[in-house]
Order: sequence, then structure tokens, then C-alpha cells
Amino acid sequence: MKTLEQYLDDAAVAHGHLCAGQVLGVRMAMLGLQKLGITDPQGKDRKRVVTFVEIDRCATDAVMVVTGCRLGKRALKFRDWGKMAATFVDVETGKAVRLAARESSKALAKNMHPEVADKNQAQMLAYRIMSDEQLFDAQWVRVELPPEEFPGFKGERVVCEQCGEGISYRREVQRGGKVLCRACAGERYYEPIS
Ligand SMILES: [Zn+2]
Ligand SMILES: [Zn+2]
Repeated sequence: MKTLEQYLDDAAVAHGHLCAGQVLGVRMAMLGLQKLGITDPQGKDRKRVVTFVEIDRCATDAVMVVTGCRLGKRALKFRDWGKMAATFVDVETGKAVRLAARESSKALAKNMHPEVADKNQAQMLAYRIMSDEQLFDAQWVRVELPPEEFPGFKGERVVCEQCGEGISYRREVQRGGKVLCRACAGERYYEPIS
């Protein structure tokens, strides 16, 4: 593992700027890996970690930097729940820990640095030195990771009976006796303009 400062340097480069979210994300990922006993996430342990993130904000980029988990490697799973939380899974041991930023950490940051008017600046300073317990709630959890969730899964590819597009990783659904993609099954996030 690198130090907090080293990870913050890496995160600032990857993310484009240093912000409170980077500090929070780096701290969260470092704590998650530490709890799992994973010491070399970019080296010998690089295939050991799968991370679920629950928000698409600054901190998510920092979590990627520390864990090395990426969407394109299938090691980063996004659950869009709008929560500053992440679950770190050790696929070797099956252990998993979910960390959620505590609501009280924002107010605490303000109290620690009342002289700093800018909220982001105050949080950046405070999040570096707060204890893990002040920053995060931690819980051990169990995460089901079926084979199709893993990088390198070679599964059958099916075709949606309605739109004809191919679907990988068993993401098809059965509706009224038909095999459909999730869009055709009603989960569409877009509307075609004809
Ligand atoms: Zn940011
Ligand atoms: Zn379809």
C-alpha cells in the first residue's frame, strides 16, 4: 500500500483535481482494503478485489485509483443508489466489508476548521486527519458473486427477441415467455425518437 499522501497525488492526477471527495474516497478504499488484509491491490492482489460503489461522484474516482478496480475490468460494480458508500469484496476469501460515510462527518469537518470559509477546503483538511470511526460506518457483509459477475466470464450470449440486440453476462430477462433485454422489458432509460 502507498501512503495517504501518495494516493492523494495519484487521485488528483486521475480525477483532474484534489477535492474533499478524493480524500474521502482514498480513505474509504484504504480502510476497506486494510480490513480485508489486502496490501498490494495493484500488484500481487490485483485480481483479488471487486468493489461495489453506490454513487457516481468524485470519491468514486479515488476508490478506483486505490483499488485498481475498473468498470472495463468488471471489477468495479456500480449500484446507482446515491449513497457515499462502497463494498470491498475479497474474492479469494469471500470476505466483504461495506463502508458508508457517516452523515456526521460533514458537521465535524466544519467544527474542526471553523476558520475555513470554503466548505470543500474545510472538509479536505478534516478528512485527512479524522479517525476511521469518525468518517465511516463499517459492517461485514456477504456478497453473492455468481460466475457471470467475474472478469473473464465466457458465457452464452443471447439475442433479445424484441430488438435483436445481443446480451451478455446473463442480463436478459424472461417476460411473457419471451427472452428480452432489460430495455425492452421496460427498464429503458431512453425513448427512441422516430
Ligand atoms: Zn472532485
Ligand atoms: Zn431488446
